[in-house]
Amino acid sequence: MELSILGAHDLESKDAHPTSLLIDGRLLIDAGGLTSSLTLSQQQQIKTVLLTHHHLDHTRDLPTLGFNVILWQGQVTVHALPQTFDIVVPCLLDGRIYVDLLKNPTLVLKGAMCSQTMSPAEDKPPLKLCEIEPYKKEIIDGYEVLPLPVKHSVPGVGYLVTSSAGNSLFYTGDTGPGLSDCWKHINPQLILIEATAPSKFTAELAMRGHLSPQSLKEELSQFRQLKGYLPRVIVIHRALPYEQQIKEEIDQVAIELNADIGLGYEGMTISV
Ligand SMILES: [Zn+2]
Ligand SMILES: [Zn+2]
Repeated sequence: MELSILGAHDLESKDAHPTSLLIDGRLLIDAGGLTSSLTLSQQQQIKTVLLTHHHLDHTRDLPTLGFNVILWQGQVTVHALPQTFDIVVPCLLDGRIYVDLLKNPTLVLKGAMCSQTMSPAEDKPPLKLCEIEPYKKEIIDGYEVLPLPVKHSVPGVGYLVTSSAGNSLFYTGDTGPGLSDCWKHINPQLILIEATAPSKFTAELAMRGHLSPQSLKEELSQFRQLKGYLPRVIVIHRALPYEQQIKEEIDQVAIELNADIGLGYEGMTISV
């Protein structure tokens, strides 16, 4: 698998995008910094989006992707928890804030642009929704996908994605401490995990369902204790104003655990 990090932060700036990961150019996990990171032809390769939870820094580019999908008369399937769709559909997709991306494009654009070129067979909504169930493995776009619940302030899952070759990565999404149940279910070659702010905020972050470098270290120590190894770890979802401090603290965690732990950046690609 070839992983591209499109967004490695929890906010948008000139060189930083909200969280978004792309696997082999076609399977997207979270839609934070998606459309601003890819050309239209790259966006056209995306067939599937997995959402970890409903927060805007993970979902905000769904409407812009859906609108672009109309251009090439395609369809992207979005997978998420029912509780995630309960928020995302009425807030982002139902046509009030933008166009209704769950209806046929001819209706979306009222025939102005699409109806002259689109045959009835191609008449399909730009976005199709598909509910996932925690702990239930599914084959999605050729990958085995296992959603595992995490401890965030709203219902959320992390995803274990396994390629047909048997390589796997696990992305936690936003999570606070308490990942030991997830660890029982996975043996990945790569973990993507969050550290939202420096360790001086550990208690506050835990209350909001996030990790600091300090609490991340405890979670990774538990992983190693349970599994007998620690794979490469990439840390994302950082608050940009604390970038340098988080980096220094994560570097220290890597030394203390004697493990391959580093920051993920926009534009980084990793083979798994
Ligand atoms: Zn969140
Ligand atoms: Zn977030």
